[in-house]
Amino acid sequence: SLTLINPPATTVKSYACQRRTPLKHHNTFLTDALEILAENAEFNENEGRSVAFRRSASVLKALPHVVRGMDDLKNLPCLGEHSVRVIKEILEDGTSSEVESTRQSEQYQAMKALTGVFGVGVKSADRWFREGLRRPLDLIHTGQKLNLAQQAGVQYYNDLNRPVTKREAVAISHIVEKAVNAVLSGAIITLMGGFRRGKEVGHDVDFLITHLEEGAEEGLMPKVLNWLEEQGLLLYQKTTRNSYLESKDGPARPPHNLDRFERCFSIFKLEKGKEGSGTSLNTSYDSGPSWRAVRVDLVVSPFSQFAFATLGWTGSKLFERELRRWAGQEKGMSLSSHALYDSKQQRYLRANSEEEIFAHLGLEYIPPSERNA
Ligand code: ATP
Ligand code: MN
Ligand code: MN
Repeated sequence: SLTLINPPATTVKSYACQRRTPLKHHNTFLTDALEILAENAEFNENEGRSVAFRRSASVLKALPHVVRGMDDLKNLPCLGEHSVRVIKEILEDGTSSEVESTRQSEQYQAMKALTGVFGVGVKSADRWFREGLRRPLDLIHTGQKLNLAQQAGVQYYNDLNRPVTKREAVAISHIVEKAVNAVLSGAIITLMGGFRRGKEVGHDVDFLITHLEEGAEEGLMPKVLNWLEEQGLLLYQKTTRNSYLESKDGPARPPHNLDRFERCFSIFKLEKGKEGSGTSLNTSYDSGPSWRAVRVDLVVSPFSQFAFATLGWTGSKLFERELRRWAGQEKGMSLSSHALYDSKQQRYLRANSEEEIFAHLGLEYIPPSERNA
């Protein structure tokens, strides 16, 4: 029978959503380098190039061993000529001259610092860089006009660039649970993003909120924010109605529930020493103010879309991108955080769990901890 044919030693599937990518892997010395180039391409608004480097890095994250020589790259998908050149240089010389000169470049460093301000995107950062600005404080010194998000970003710059620990994420969970329960009983609050994938630190804390009773979640976000505001727990918040409503290039939209999907980008004021450690010794906190600022994302989803929202907000960003690419290119389907549309059948495919969505897509189920693509 055909099963007598031996497969190659290491097979790596070409879409990140077809493979398991653990948080800790064997090739950070290569993936960190490739991701610097990806980041730099983003700073130059070259998305194609950036995605190519991210895909290359992601393939190396999925390998069960350290890459020691070029032979180890045989049969691997997604490795473009440029990435291979960089990998070869690192394997031979220990470093890549392109990566090192990027890392040292004034543009890379300034763009990294400026986009590191909450509310500042590549476009603004690039404009400021061209005007000679280099550091976040330059925005203040030169009297730049900042929107409210950017003002908060500068004000809490140090805190927001300090990693959020798992313990702090749990403390924030308790606050969010208390806030949601105060305004609606029976709501379900789930930790999303990097922490759901098993990360020990994050740049923010992401939550998805839903309710078993479809429609009960309507109008929840403003109430939750009011409660938090009254308790003095919010330093900044901006609620956006789902932009999916207006988008023309996304998948066709479900006929119901559209105006119910809201998200909020916020900054919480977290009291120090309240991370539920159970100990009164907080020696790492004996200087500075008694609280820190933490970025928190809140999303409210109707229960009918909860599985899609869960899948969409768990990440990683590359894993999500690859899921959507797989759906479109391989299955003639269109996936969003709201729904899955099958173009051939011309209908939406329902799902009550992430497992069902993977099944609809013809993919093996990948648990959150293996979605660190
Ligand atoms: P980190 O630890 O840096 O926060 P993360 O994986 O949690 O890592 P986030 O930027 O918080 O990164 O994103 C978490 C998930 O939410 C990702 O899957 C991303 O696709 C999704 N997401 C983030 N921002 C948006 C947005 N504006 N619209 C839709 N989905 C988003
Ligand atoms: Mn996150
Ligand atoms: Mn987030």
